[in-house]
Amino acid sequence: AAKGGGRGQFRFYSTDLHNEAETRRRIEEDLRDALVENQIHLAYQPLVDAKTNAVVAMEAVMRWTHPELGPISPALFIPVAEESNQIGQLGEWALRRACAEAAQWPGNVKVSVNVSPAQFANVNLPVLVTQALANSGLAPELLELELTESIFLNDRDATDDMFAALKAIGVRLALDDFGTGYSSLGYLRKAPFDKIKIDQSFIRGVTEPGCRNVAIIKAIVSLAEALDMDTTAEGIEAHDELDLMRELKVGQIQGYIYSKPIPGEDVLAAMGSGEWIIRPEGPSNARSDR
Ligand code: C2E
Ligand code: MG
Ligand code: MG
Ligand code: MG
Repeated sequence: AAKGGGRGQFRFYSTDLHNEAETRRRIEEDLRDALVENQIHLAYQPLVDAKTNAVVAMEAVMRWTHPELGPISPALFIPVAEESNQIGQLGEWALRRACAEAAQWPGNVKVSVNVSPAQFANVNLPVLVTQALANSGLAPELLELELTESIFLNDRDATDDMFAALKAIGVRLALDDFGTGYSSLGYLRKAPFDKIKIDQSFIRGVTEPGCRNVAIIKAIVSLAEALDMDTTAEGIEAHDELDLMRELKVGQIQGYIYSKPIPGEDVLAAMGSGEWIIRPEGPSNARSDR
């Protein structure tokens, strides 16, 4: 696609972008230059201990600012990257960048990095993880990889081997968006996850009377407990949701109630020194990126 186009070109595109296929095509094409042109950055969202309000980890999420179209959501461009064979390169960049940034953080705040199924299926992943840790000096136990249930659609032996290789490095593994994908409980028995992240689709409406999501969250928490895994509730926005999660003994909270994702360059200033405690919706909460 044309770069730095004049007004005429922009009008051409903005009309054309009403067409979904055209939008997708343009994202796919422009994404190829986005990394080298410095259009992609990482933002980090706190994961907070439900009991103490201490920040225990920060999840790295990609932010793409397109020169003409403005911010494009990862919910839009990550699937395109996956379908167009670009996720390997983007994912490797995110892994290296997140480790490098997290190595500068005070205390023992972990960094969580999203890993796509295609990256997990690549036998080279353990080498990339080892390199990212070595180059940054980040301790392996401070790196958490977020995987989704889709990895279980891959070859089973290869999946077991990858788990073993990653655990041998000493990184932590979290099961992201739990309950939205290929939810078989059989795999959880053997998979070495340290944590289950309860998808935000279970949070929406959870405080309404009679909402059945409460039963599901209860079940997930007791399952995680029995398997010696921690839990994070994603997408907590309201105080009554937070209260309910605490009542249900969810271990960690992630959501706008504490903080939106913070641009990477602002994280150090937001953290201060020593332990970082944040209050739900507190005015001192760090600046958000959106
Ligand atoms: P995710 O891994 O489940 O990340 C959580 C998403 O929920 C993030 O959206 C986050 O900003 C959003 N979120 C957090 N708290 C709240 C809340 O209280 N309310 C609402 N409504 N949303 C909340 P984001 O940053 O747009 O990312 C969307 C998805 O894109 C991520 O979902 C993840 O699947 C994917 N993604 C982002 N960065 C990467 C990456 O570096 N690699 C890969 N493979 N995927 C990524
Ligand atoms: Mg995630
Ligand atoms: Mg998630
Ligand atoms: Mg999610």
